[in-house]
Amino acid sequence: MSECNHDCGSCGVKDCGSRIEKFKANSASHIKKVIGVVSGKGGVGKSLVTELLAVLALREGKKAAILDADITGPSIPKAFGVSGEVVGNETGFYPLSSEGGVSVMSINLLTGDETAPVVWRGPVLAGVVKQFWEEVIWGDVDYMFVDMPPGTGDVPLTVFQSVPLDGIVVVSSPQELVGMIVEKAVRMAEMMSVPVLALVENMSYLTCPDCGKKINVFGESKVRDIAAKYNIPITHTIPIDPQLAAAVDAGKIEEYHSDWLNELKGGIIS
Ligand code: ADP
Repeated sequence: MSECNHDCGSCGVKDCGSRIEKFKANSASHIKKVIGVVSGKGGVGKSLVTELLAVLALREGKKAAILDADITGPSIPKAFGVSGEVVGNETGFYPLSSEGGVSVMSINLLTGDETAPVVWRGPVLAGVVKQFWEEVIWGDVDYMFVDMPPGTGDVPLTVFQSVPLDGIVVVSSPQELVGMIVEKAVRMAEMMSVPVLALVENMSYLTCPDCGKKINVFGESKVRDIAAKYNIPITHTIPIDPQLAAAVDAGKIEEYHSDWLNELKGGIIS
């Protein structure tokens, strides 16, 4: 069989979807909603959006969890200031909890060395996500956010097909929106029949700290046009905010507040 090029229309392999392994959650996990956060490439703020959505769910009084499936670029524990030893028993192992109560599981918590590169091949990476889904005792969760591996390669594809996603949020930078990279991610979701709940343009603008004027650093936003083209019901924009970066770096994302933040839950958290 030739390698999958993700274009089901040009592929002769019948029924390949039914042969994909679906991950089964641990029997002690009761997860109501699973939302994947995806991007066309790394560094556009996918993890940041995952973190903010969990914070917003928490502020709504929901039980929130994050499965860090971005195995080669894990950043969730740091943003929440979560560290420590993962413990378990014969039925599975427990996620760690942030100060506010977000349950987190990430490869960083297991390797213990944030700077060590994860140099594993695709099937091993997908195997880790499977373990996070099946062997972690998540307990009762209202919103599980999955920080997906970036791109449309083999590992994100496996995660897409194997984790029971209720929907995804696509995160993009302004340049990526123009460059069509994001459209590949949207089309991949379409092929998998996973609804795209919202398209988020990160680093969309800058607010002048002196006069409060909104500056479109990368020109007029294209987010609405692209969302309309793909029938994505909701769009959000996030500014470049040094305080946001500082909150992530200090492990205090749960303490971050801003005028625009509450809007981000629209169409995603109810
Ligand atoms: P990805 O998950 O797509 O690789 P991250 O969410 O890790 O990207 O973001 C990359 C870096 O940029 C992080 O240090 C993050 O805190 C910072 N960052 C992302 N978006 C913003 C923003 N809107 N304002 C300030 N810093 C940001």
